Amino acid sequence: MTRVVILGAGISGHTAALHLQRQMNGKVDIVVVSPNSNWNWIPSNIWVGVGKMTKDQVTFPLAPVYKRKHIGFRQAKAVSIHPEGNVIQQQPFVDIVYTDPSRAGEEEQLTYDYLIVATGPKLNFAATPGLGPDGNSWSVCTAGHAEQSAAALETIIEALKAGERKTLVIGVGHGTCTCEGAAFEYTFNVEHELRERGVRELADVVYLSNEYDLGDLGVGGMTFAQNGFETSSKMWTESLVRERGVRAILRAHVEKVDPGLIHYEELDGSKHELAFDFAMLLPPFRGVDMKAYANDGHDITDDLFAPNGFLRVDADYETKPYEQWAPEDWPKTYQCPRYANVFAVGIAFAPPHAISEPRKSPNGTVISPAPPRTGMPSGVMGRTVALSIADRIRQGDQATLRTASMAAMGAACIASAGTGLRQGSAAAITMYPIIPDRQRFPGSGRDLSQTSGEIGLSGHWTKLLLHYLFIYKAKARFGWFLIPE
Ligand SMILES: Cc1cc2nc3c(=O)[nH]c(=O)nc-3n(C[C@H](O)[C@H](O)[C@H](O)COP(=O)(O)OP(=O)(O)OC[C@H]3O[C@@H](n4cnc5c(N)ncnc54)[C@H](O)[C@@H]3O)c2cc1C
Repeated sequence: MTRVVILGAGISGHTAALHLQRQMNGKVDIVVVSPNSNWNWIPSNIWVGVGKMTKDQVTFPLAPVYKRKHIGFRQAKAVSIHPEGNVIQQQPFVDIVYTDPSRAGEEEQLTYDYLIVATGPKLNFAATPGLGPDGNSWSVCTAGHAEQSAAALETIIEALKAGERKTLVIGVGHGTCTCEGAAFEYTFNVEHELRERGVRELADVVYLSNEYDLGDLGVGGMTFAQNGFETSSKMWTESLVRERGVRAILRAHVEKVDPGLIHYEELDGSKHELAFDFAMLLPPFRGVDMKAYANDGHDITDDLFAPNGFLRVDADYETKPYEQWAPEDWPKTYQCPRYANVFAVGIAFAPPHAISEPRKSPNGTVISPAPPRTGMPSGVMGRTVALSIADRIRQGDQATLRTASMAAMGAACIASAGTGLRQGSAAAITMYPIIPDRQRFPGSGRDLSQTSGEIGLSGHWTKLLLHYLFIYKAKARFGWFLIPE
């Protein structure tokens, strides 16, 4: 039976596994490899990070779902890909090392006919000395990290209650970070929590970001049509920051995090220090550590993976100036150019370039956001590649691959600005296309009728509803496939 190995059980890999199983209904051997035993609805980690949800509310064990769906599961991490096999094993295979406590450290060669790489990001705390929970700042990237942040925040709130002044810095911990949206959400959730607990007055809340302007969010900002007028994500975020009394420091690259002191460089080359009592700074992302080998054993990692560790797919990776970036640069099928049976989806594929305008300080430090690949496009890519593989298994290698370019895809994202059924709020953002197309849509590069932003209580209710819907879908409960990605 044809075997499809999926590396990663996050938003893109898990979506691919469920759709492929549904399409092929037992006529394909699907094996998912993931070092974590749990699935995590990462967007709700923000609420874990302010103590409003527990780790158990945002995660569930994968093994029972895969057992019910007859999908193979290895709690293990992939360490190398052998897309041509080797002198002993003719079939392509992946080397995996078990993280399952009952088999920890055991190795296995997993052969495949098709491979989907959906390994998401490596949280690269090491890029900034002192960054991260093993250093001097917190994170909300995993449910465990978010729990630690909540506990640290609680200590700060107790001190505020005792009348002490505190500085809370939330943002990104390197000039090349992505995921500014998550940092934005955590900032406003913390600010909301401080108000609810009656200690806002004594807290200085700082948003520290590599964005050139507020509202850039790694997508070059957005222009919205609202009540017949044009407004921008910049104006909108600036007014939110002003209204909530948040101090924003932009165009910043964090160089080092010492206990209680952040050292950062600004885009003009100047260097600064910022004292803090609590800091949640997201790390930059790179691809997970995986090697690749040809059948004679020689290392082909640099052919398969871009220097940032993400897998090269059908994108145009030629280096071009910003003015020449085009929607066509972005991948459509997510197929690896060198091996037709290998695909990469979600954060694991190498983007051709950023979306926001690239910028460097006079010292040569890159200070501009990397391109985000949020949940919705990651899920859509996972489903699209699953359907392409199903087509190829049924019809043979001539079956046309399906496409899901971020340049032809819209995205919806709801950024929480504080939780609570009556007091909560969230910014509901839609955009089309994700990659600006200035030929089709002169000016902002996006269709104003399909790009919108709205902040309010109803956004919070939608975000909460999506939390339950996406966990229901990921558990593959009755009718799960009717819920869109
Ligand atoms: C705090 C936070 C909040 C966010 N909020 C939002 C939001 O509100 N809306 C939104 O759209 N997006 C949000 N995002 C982004 C969203 O989480 C990502 O777009 C999405 O998770 C990407 O899916 P993925 O499958 O590529 O990666 P992931 O979901 O990260 O999954 C990667 C998988 O690969 C596994 N893996 C890692 N290494 C290996 C290995 N060596 N071998 C095998 N498997 C491996 C991991 O264990 C995991 O199962 C947020 C992100 C963060 C960090």
